Amino acid sequence: MRGFKFSICVNKASILTGIVLLVLISSVWASAEGVVCDFCGKGISGKYFIYEKNGSNMVVCRDCKEQSGSCQLCGIPVKGTKPSDSIILCANCRLSAKYCDICHTLISGKYFVSSDGKHTYCANCEAHAKRCSSCNALMHPGSWYKCGEYELCARCYQELPRCKSCGLPVVGTSVFFKGFEGFYCQKCADQKPKCRSCGRPCDSGAIILHDKIFICSDCADSAILTNASLKRLAEEVQADLLHTLNMKIDHKIHWELAENLTELADTQYRECGRFVYKGDHYTIQILKGLSREIAIETIAHELGHAWQTEHIPSLDGDLWREGFAQWIAAQAIKNYGFKGLLDRLESRQDLYGQGYWKLMELERKYSRNAMLHVLKNQ
Ligand SMILES: [Zn+2]
Ligand SMILES: [Zn+2]
Ligand SMILES: [Zn+2]
Ligand SMILES: [Zn+2]
Ligand SMILES: [Zn+2]
Ligand SMILES: [Zn+2]
Ligand SMILES: [Zn+2]
Repeated sequence: MRGFKFSICVNKASILTGIVLLVLISSVWASAEGVVCDFCGKGISGKYFIYEKNGSNMVVCRDCKEQSGSCQLCGIPVKGTKPSDSIILCANCRLSAKYCDICHTLISGKYFVSSDGKHTYCANCEAHAKRCSSCNALMHPGSWYKCGEYELCARCYQELPRCKSCGLPVVGTSVFFKGFEGFYCQKCADQKPKCRSCGRPCDSGAIILHDKIFICSDCADSAILTNASLKRLAEEVQADLLHTLNMKIDHKIHWELAENLTELADTQYRECGRFVYKGDHYTIQILKGLSREIAIETIAHELGHAWQTEHIPSLDGDLWREGFAQWIAAQAIKNYGFKGLLDRLESRQDLYGQGYWKLMELERKYSRNAMLHVLKNQ
């Protein structure tokens, strides 16, 4: 009970007058003393109740008190209500009453407000109602979403980035892959088969080449799957490098798709191509199923090795050889405008990345032609 004083009084007049004279005398006394029930309007002859608030009194006879409901917040009887009514509030309390936005009950006592100030919760819901797995906000019945093992509020469901593989909102760590757009949830990153072309977790649109060889839907759209399409693309890249770098290779190259090449120690990358030569027989193998973009990068890299073999056979050590091939690949993907792939190539920390930056250093120091001269005399 808040803010009200409540006292029980006895009308002395009715005690003194007795039963017989009750009706007559009580009305006289009531009018004389003004003890009239504010609910029923009748003069009071017996016990009555006075409720006091803000300096004015409310008088209620015993019958009215028993037959009326009491305000659930301050406890005073409320005219026109019954004790069995589900919600009983006096006019004052009605103005400031708070209802829980989850269980919809009237809050008496302690209440909680959502961080955006828009919602009010009772103590029970604050302690026990479902909370969003991402932002921990209390969730309202019917307006939350079950997403795999998570339960999300409407806002998080809408605003969280979606996993490119399972399509669900990413809760917690989102995994991304250098050079490619989009996020993945940790579960897909850990458990989904990896695309052989880009290394990302596969999605529902992935294709399966054969046992355990998956290609994600992004890569599948342009995947190089036949020797004829590989040859066409290889000739296009070779022509581009001849045109932009004057990179002429005299040997005829035999192109073939490889069903498999070795995995590298660093599982972030894998061997996507291989240049093999036996005397004057140059062969370049490209892993089957690479996307057009990654195939172009790989073709340019292997062409770098072929050109090296013809023109700088003295180039020694994996660091320089792979660095040079990466530098050629970078020129090709710049020509094609594959910004993401260039970022990925330039951010590599392994021998391929270190070799590439050695070449970039030389390129900065000398002109391109002088750089080749320096490499020849390495
Ligand atoms: Zn009354
Ligand atoms: Zn009240
Ligand atoms: Zn509640
Ligand atoms: Zn949330
Ligand atoms: Zn996922
Ligand atoms: Zn892929
Ligand atoms: Zn190489």
